Amino acid sequence: MCSILGLTRPFSEIHRAATGILTAMETSVMALFEETGAYLHGHFRLTSGLHSGEYLQCAKVLAIPAYAERLGQELAQQIKSLLSGKTPQVVIAPAIGGIVIGHEVAKALQARSLFTERDLDTNEMTLRRGFEIKPGESVVVIEDVITTGGSTKEVIRVADSYGVKVQAAGSIIDRSGGRADVGVPRVALQSLRAVAYQPEDCLLCKQGLPLVKPGSRRTEPVS
Ligand code: ZN
Repeated sequence: MCSILGLTRPFSEIHRAATGILTAMETSVMALFEETGAYLHGHFRLTSGLHSGEYLQCAKVLAIPAYAERLGQELAQQIKSLLSGKTPQVVIAPAIGGIVIGHEVAKALQARSLFTERDLDTNEMTLRRGFEIKPGESVVVIEDVITTGGSTKEVIRVADSYGVKVQAAGSIIDRSGGRADVGVPRVALQSLRAVAYQPEDCLLCKQGLPLVKPGSRRTEPVS
């Protein structure tokens, strides 16, 4: 799901490294985050409870339709390369964070765009709204940010329940630095390794900086 990221390096260093480690595409992805104010600096509490000095808010980049389309096209290209040029028939994304980018990837692939959401009673990921997939269909899973890969794996299990084997997965950001294993081949437009601190070890806390929880979940008080 969208959102939180601690970067190992400040953005300026990423730019300096662009001629070496990072590809032009990776650098341009970060430039979109910077330009749209989606790359925040401060003192943030991550969903895990850890603290970080940086935060990526994907929804702010995807709020610009032209950027969402561009990221979707790039991700679609990488998915096709991963599948040796084959085009999947269906893209499934976990709601809410995955919906916009999943739809853009599906548009670029001329595939069907579906999303899973949590059942209000059981909290299980499920296909609702009359969405269905058929055994034998070629399916990929797309989300905005992969952290542990948990959401993507939940979507893969939903496909399994329909007798469909997911071919590949993709995300705009991989904040696991490539380590997240979802059990299928996976691509990301930007791979970054998260740096975060236990609250008791957090230097930002020690400096007395106010703590912000800017994630997609609302109304949780920040202490
Ligand atoms: Zn802190």
